[in-house]
Amino acid sequence: MSHPAVTDRVASLIRPEIRALSAYSVPSAEGMLKLDAMENPYSWPAPLKKAWLERLEAVAINRYPEPAAAAVKEGLARMMKIPERYDLLLGNGSDEIIQLLAMAVAEPGRTVLAPEPSFVMYRMIATFTGMAYRGVALDSDFDLDVEAMLAAIAAEQPALIFLAQPNNPTGNLFSEDRVRAILEASEGLVVVDEAYTAFTEADSLKLLDEYDNLVIMRTLSKVGLAGLRLGLLVGQPAWLTELEKLRLPYNINVLTQASAAFALEHYDVLRAQTRQLQQNRVLLSEALGALPGLQVWPSEANFLLVRTPEGQAAQLHQGLREQGILVKLLDGAHPALADCLRINVSSEEENAALLQALAALLGG
Ligand SMILES: *Cc1c(COP(=O)(O)O)cnc(C)c1O
Repeated sequence: MSHPAVTDRVASLIRPEIRALSAYSVPSAEGMLKLDAMENPYSWPAPLKKAWLERLEAVAINRYPEPAAAAVKEGLARMMKIPERYDLLLGNGSDEIIQLLAMAVAEPGRTVLAPEPSFVMYRMIATFTGMAYRGVALDSDFDLDVEAMLAAIAAEQPALIFLAQPNNPTGNLFSEDRVRAILEASEGLVVVDEAYTAFTEADSLKLLDEYDNLVIMRTLSKVGLAGLRLGLLVGQPAWLTELEKLRLPYNINVLTQASAAFALEHYDVLRAQTRQLQQNRVLLSEALGALPGLQVWPSEANFLLVRTPEGQAAQLHQGLREQGILVKLLDGAHPALADCLRINVSSEEENAALLQALAALLGG
């Protein structure tokens, strides 16, 4: 039992915008087929797992991590072909990097801008850090509405703009000329969030030399290392030197450092898995599109946005749950996502299980 006075104390001390939030909820997935969180379903071949465990055996768990995580940065730069003239900053997932970026610019009256629907952490972290947030609706093709974005930029002069490329939860790429128009109009820092870079040929690294207000964020989560929590930011040293000051010294722990360095040495395994998922995406997209009443959007990511027959999304979501399959219900999250589900592209077996369950629920 809490003392009655504690409620008053909490109410007077915790900021109203924090009390108004509901915590980011992740449903329990115990024993479920998990198709809601963009994870890679494949595991590692046994010999690779064994070599990894041998590497971990040598980790000094009683010691603080190497603060700069140099081996991880080297592996990332090699794998992603990041030119030496750019710096890298590592985060405990790219979520932490979003937080660092916001902390670095947060000041009363400053705004974070992002198109909507997009990744929900942009808004949440703006609120955490006491910044205003402005969402601008995407156009009817889920591309950037340049006119509306430019008007919002002129009106708010946002300190930070987030563009997820490809976008979550819509799965598409924004047109490059529209991204460029925003970079040109913005006095603030533009973050191109390439969380799904492993599933698309698009690559914004080439824009870094052209725009001095651009940084690029990536993560190892979607390629098969979600459990590690490792995200990265790439950009001009002038930006990253400042952000580095805000990074907590040991944010990348010893197990993550050893595992990420190891995984990057064997990146061909993860690359083969993501290539397979790209192929599975084509097949799953076609099969879902053939089910009665489903509309599937093109995707450059490892998930598909699907529109269900009017008014049925919640019931299909629940029906799948009852059969042990977890997908993301988006209906109600944004007007443009009415009747929508977001479904992970998974292994052949898991995709087949999903299709069978959905077909039965749709009465196909
Ligand atoms: C999943 C996701 C992230 C967060 O990734 P973590 O590195 O796991 O924190 C960031 N941006 C987008 C668009 C995502 O979909």
